[in-house]
Amino acid sequence: MDNTTLRHNTGTMHRARAKIILQCSWPEIAEKRDPLRALFLSDPHLLGAISGHWFDKLRREWQMERSFQTALLLLRPEMVFILGDVFDEGKWSSTKDWEDDVRRFKQIFYHSSNTELVVLIGNHDIGFHHEMTSYKLERFEKIFNMTSAQILTKRGVNFLLVNSVALHGDHCPICQSVEDKLYSFAQQLNCSTQSDATRYHCRDIQTHASTPPIILQHYPLYRTSDVECIGEDAAPLNERYQLFQERYDVLSQDASKKLLWWFQPRLILSGHTHSSCEVFHENRFLEISVPSFSWRNRNNPSFILGTFSTSDFALSKCFLPEESTIIAVYCSSAVVIVLIILVHLCLLGKKKSL
Ligand SMILES: [Zn+2]
Ligand SMILES: [Zn+2]
Repeated sequence: MDNTTLRHNTGTMHRARAKIILQCSWPEIAEKRDPLRALFLSDPHLLGAISGHWFDKLRREWQMERSFQTALLLLRPEMVFILGDVFDEGKWSSTKDWEDDVRRFKQIFYHSSNTELVVLIGNHDIGFHHEMTSYKLERFEKIFNMTSAQILTKRGVNFLLVNSVALHGDHCPICQSVEDKLYSFAQQLNCSTQSDATRYHCRDIQTHASTPPIILQHYPLYRTSDVECIGEDAAPLNERYQLFQERYDVLSQDASKKLLWWFQPRLILSGHTHSSCEVFHENRFLEISVPSFSWRNRNNPSFILGTFSTSDFALSKCFLPEESTIIAVYCSSAVVIVLIILVHLCLLGKKKSL
């Protein structure tokens, strides 16, 4: 991977650089005073009771727990965002299995009160649109203390949190309420910019920090495929040409246009594809697809570090150790231990025979 820096009108994206956690550091921005530091990860897919094998669960969850806790210890992010598909089987898990999944989540992603953890909804958490019910949605929102559309402002930086499963555009009650909320947030954010603030229709509207939002959601905005994606953690070549299906692999074209028109976001971060990609929508809106954090979904999981001010941002990527490397280290260590034991036994045998 190269170290080139990509510049655009609202910030700076340091192209992904391969680093393991120990070598990770926060990207710098010009504004040095009190920047906001946030860590983004996606698609941990904690295995469920039905299709999760115990050994698979054990090693992948142990790896995620160690990686997350190491990242917290070394990097001390102020905020952590998980971009959906927290669970693999939230879409169909029974109350008992759900409680067990939540218990393991709290253990793996344990954090002190110095770090704020924000979780977004993915299709594996509540099901695809046709499987989504108020019951599944509410149990997720209650546990993670969030709603399907929300503006979260930290030190003047607006994050727009969106339940992208509810952007199906079919006017179902859940979709309609999310869309209505988003429309009213768009008005509030427009009124929050100075040029618009004096207009009559802004008089009784709630205002926010006067900066375009950073959209965080599970589904990526519409793109035809991953063919333009590059880098060592982009989709494998044989998958890159597969055409995406609107509303399943990516948001619909309508919903994507609406989000861009309404919010003019300075950045979009999404998950769902499990692979990395950088896309410029309409040549100006940068979207980053954040790859999966789980070894189950890829050999080289990663997370994104973001430094933000009200007018600038910079991102960098940290890779976790590759699963194949760890397995090779374990196997060679086991061979060395066995050899040491054998040599030791041989020497003992010789001593006795003397
Ligand atoms: Zn996923
Ligand atoms: Zn997904």
